[in-house]
Amino acid sequence: METKAEKKDINVWRRAVLDGLAEQHPDAAPELDFTSPYELLIATILSAQCTDKQVNKVTPALFRAYPTPADLAKADPAEIEPYIRSCGFYHNKAANIVSACRDIAERFGGEVPSTREGLESLAGVGRKTASVVLSNAFGVPAIAVDTHVFRVSNRIGLAEARNVEETEKQLMEAIPQEEWSIAHHWLIFHGRRVCSAKKPACADCMIKDLCRYHKESEGDK
Ligand code: SF4
Repeated sequence: METKAEKKDINVWRRAVLDGLAEQHPDAAPELDFTSPYELLIATILSAQCTDKQVNKVTPALFRAYPTPADLAKADPAEIEPYIRSCGFYHNKAANIVSACRDIAERFGGEVPSTREGLESLAGVGRKTASVVLSNAFGVPAIAVDTHVFRVSNRIGLAEARNVEETEKQLMEAIPQEEWSIAHHWLIFHGRRVCSAKKPACADCMIKDLCRYHKESEGDK
């Protein structure tokens, strides 16, 4: 159990970490292109095991051909595959996006649901995808833990967890709720641009003096 003074120190440290990340990534924002919850949902499903850049290349043609969930709901998955082939796992992704849109048409009156429960009931939509859609399309605070968020937050020490579920829980405790969504983008940008999996660029990192991983690796030298 932490003492009052220790708790205060942790809060000061967390604040400094978040401020440092914000300073290093003032442009942090969603990197998937979308103009509606429908487009974000489909783009997020396509982004599994694929870069956002690649998804952004295929979605304009896909959404021109299928502008609404009702259009995709009527499609045969095989028709969708040529549009999304370059995103990988296209066979499964085509089946999932068509069945998600059928669900949206049949159970949600043609509108993407704005609740976690509704989103997670759609084919191909897990907790992470639901969090991305909730926070970026509906403004509901959420922290989607992907590989970057998991690695970076555990390196820094904002989380100390073995899996994404625990990491999400600990980040929700460590970060003020109104900053959950933006902090998720800070951590992703940090993972992509600075704190890479193989070789973190600690010399360029604005929070290196606060980072547990950096402190420990300095100690190893
Ligand atoms: S100091 Fe290094 S390990 Fe820590 S967050 Fe920065 S880049 Fe990552």
